[in-house]
Amino acid sequence: MQGLLGGVPEGTGGAPEGCQGGCQLCPPPPQSLTAHPPPNIPAELKPGLSRLGQILKDQLPAWGDGWGSWTPPGTPPGPRPPEEADVVVVGGGVVGWSVAYWLKALEGQRHGMRVLVVERDPTYSQASTVLSVGGIRQQFSLPENIRMSRFSASFLRNINEHLGVPNEPPIDIQFQPSGYLFLAPPQSAARLEATVQLQREEGVQVALLSPPQLKAKFPWIDTEDVAVASYGLENEGWFDPWTLLNAFRRKATSLGVHSCNGEVRGE
Ligand SMILES: Cc1cc2nc3c(=O)[nH]c(=O)nc-3n(C[C@H](O)[C@H](O)[C@H](O)COP(=O)(O)OP(=O)(O)OC[C@H]3O[C@@H](n4cnc5c(N)ncnc54)[C@H](O)[C@@H]3O)c2cc1C
Repeated sequence: MQGLLGGVPEGTGGAPEGCQGGCQLCPPPPQSLTAHPPPNIPAELKPGLSRLGQILKDQLPAWGDGWGSWTPPGTPPGPRPPEEADVVVVGGGVVGWSVAYWLKALEGQRHGMRVLVVERDPTYSQASTVLSVGGIRQQFSLPENIRMSRFSASFLRNINEHLGVPNEPPIDIQFQPSGYLFLAPPQSAARLEATVQLQREEGVQVALLSPPQLKAKFPWIDTEDVAVASYGLENEGWFDPWTLLNAFRRKATSLGVHSCNGEVRGE
């Protein structure tokens, strides 16, 4: 008996004499041998059961294994993804939802392009979007970056025109204006001045400060090795990136973008 059960120690309460096992006095057999014993299904029933299993799998909400390895407690199951999509956006961070939004916004035709956003972690526990401080600046050294950031500042300033959804509360991304400050030692002064010149040509409001001007504005800064500083006067500061992410998601969803939870993997 012990050999069959695989591990009831001698003298610690095996089956009563004469018992073949399974009575109330028997010690519980080890889990590995009794948990979920394979059902003895007649061969003729197997095809029907297999079809039934597939139907249930298709009908039930997606939990766990199929679309993600773990669902946080309390998180309702995400919707099943559509069978087909024109564009699948992998990752529902601020970039993914922004891409999804712009695809639909520029399309100008609801329900035309089928866009699906797939996010593996609905808690966003490690997403850069929610880890970032949400800083925005205009002071870049490439015209392309300056133009993109000017566009972003205008977009954020008018966010309710872009991402507002009828009958939903207005969006407040809690923008805190605060200029970025760049300091240059003597050997880099000419480069900083040239960069500021470029920024001004692109329409950026930025001040060049001499060391005394810098000291007057920021008395706590040691200006000894500073030759010149640049300080943003407009469209710089920080905002709440979580609110921006949700605003993109809400708007994109209202435009017909689909989403689901799961990890996209290559074959
Ligand atoms: C500490 C920190 C501070 C920052 N500060 C600033 C700042 O002040 N200003 C600024 O402009 N930028 C800042 N950034 C950068 C900015 O946060 C990122 O550039 C931006 O958030 C990137 O967005 P994303 O959507 O590409 O990435 P993420 O927000 O990381 O989103 C990617 C998403 O994709 C999901 N994903 C990945 N692979 C898969 C897969 N195979 N299947 C399904 N889902 C997947 C992930 O779960 C994640 O949610 C900062 C970043 C950090 C980390």
